[in-house]
Amino acid sequence: MRRITKRFLTADRSGRVLSSNSERLTDDGRGHLNVTTRRMAAWCSSCHRPLTDTEQRRGRCDYCRRLTCCDACETRCSVCSRRLCGDCRRGFVGQTWMTVCPICLVRLRQRQAVQDHLHARKVAFERQMLRQRELARLQALNLQVARIRVMAQLQSARLRTTGQLALIREMNRLKLALARAYRYG
Ligand SMILES: [Zn+2]
Ligand SMILES: [Zn+2]
Ligand SMILES: [Zn+2]
Repeated sequence: MRRITKRFLTADRSGRVLSSNSERLTDDGRGHLNVTTRRMAAWCSSCHRPLTDTEQRRGRCDYCRRLTCCDACETRCSVCSRRLCGDCRRGFVGQTWMTVCPICLVRLRQRQAVQDHLHARKVAFERQMLRQRELARLQALNLQVARIRVMAQLQSARLRTTGQLALIREMNRLKLALARAYRYG
């Protein structure tokens, strides 16, 4: 029995074997030839996909410096562009959904908290302004009502006076007429 093994290895620059393909040819001496093909691949430490090519390998995660990414799982922080492995990437929901690193996530959350606080203050301020404007409008209305009332009172007083004056004038006229009548009578 004879055995021939052919092996194809793919290694990265540091010599780490990424994948190996082997073909085993066996001849049992009775005219039977068997070919067995075996394929072995390294795994991406981040997403566990098999790596068959050095081209698929990307650098280490910029955050944990532990896991190495592949072309399928490599992600970058939308804010600082750090390379992120599957363990270190985080999602942040602001106006849109973003992939970010843990450092940027903390900053974004702080910024959002500040913005929420400012917004709440602005809303409270606007509500207060509205209330004050409403109060001022009510005061102006009250003043106008009071002015109209005073004017009405003045007018009625004037009317009364005019009436009394007319009466007095009339009485004087009558007295004068009476006196004249007595003198010439
Ligand atoms: Zn990481
Ligand atoms: Zn991967
Ligand atoms: Zn970041």
